[in-house]
Amino acid sequence: MKTIYGVFGDPIEHSLSPLMHNAAFQALGLECEYHAFRVTRDNLRDALVGAAALGFGGVNLTIPLKEKALEIVEPDALARKIGAVNTVDFKGGMRGYNTDGIGAILALKDKGIEVRGKKVLLVGAGGAARAIAYKLAWEGARVTIANRTIQKAVSLAGEVGGIGVGLDLLGELIQDSDILVNSTSVGMFPKVNETIATAEIMHPGLVVLDIVYNPLETKLLQEAKRASVGAVDGVMMLVYQGAEAFRIWTGQNPPIKVMESAVREALKR
Ligand code: NAP
Repeated sequence: MKTIYGVFGDPIEHSLSPLMHNAAFQALGLECEYHAFRVTRDNLRDALVGAAALGFGGVNLTIPLKEKALEIVEPDALARKIGAVNTVDFKGGMRGYNTDGIGAILALKDKGIEVRGKKVLLVGAGGAARAIAYKLAWEGARVTIANRTIQKAVSLAGEVGGIGVGLDLLGELIQDSDILVNSTSVGMFPKVNETIATAEIMHPGLVVLDIVYNPLETKLLQEAKRASVGAVDGVMMLVYQGAEAFRIWTGQNPPIKVMESAVREALKR
């Protein structure tokens, strides 16, 4: 009998996780299947208990369930600190993890970029930014967090031992950074002409990671190319956060290239 995995969220119909994980299961010849389920915050407890009772291997959680899950599953120390769970494993109970931050770190590593000792300017202080900020700090990066709502930047920076600022000094901050990470939704479809920074305020040696992956090449990444600086797109973060969930569930090395191709093909359509 096949082991079932899934992603719970609302809305969920556009999730790329099913095709990414099913491609991985197929590549490794695992008797597993991954599906998307529409689950509301009010139904999350029932859905998780039901999935566990039905023998699911594990689930991913996405908007708007990641924070609510903390009340239901047993989170590991990192997920508890971040305040959000994106991966639940049903082996021996209901363990919660957050693989978003490691996804961003591995997306950079994939391009040969290490964060240890680097000055990283993280723009945004929402859910994804929280996960990335904790992991960056853990990996030994020097983190500055810039956010439209400055209080959120200051508060998150306080948690991870960084500096929190508003967006008004972004130009100067970028000049003083090795890596710029956009973890806001700026530039996401349909507002594809928006960007947090233009080529003019980028400097040689800067690397830009945009975690937005729809469109594949955001305006920010176009600007990075125009400035001839390193550009890393959000697909690799999506792939690596999924890959880490896959590793937690199956104990097997995830087939990264297979997962990446599945996502890129779907985004081209
Ligand atoms: P979120 O919790 O809603 O946070 C949104 C962030 O964007 C906040 O910091 C918000 O600032 C900022 N923001 C929104 N509109 C802005 C604007 N016009 N100008 C400046 N800042 C603005 O969302 P999230 O879950 O962190 O997701 C953020 C983005 O990351 C989404 O596009 C999502 O698709 C993407 N994402 C990608 C991956 C991946 O694997 N590649 C994983 C997770 C998320 P305020 O605090 O001031 O509102």
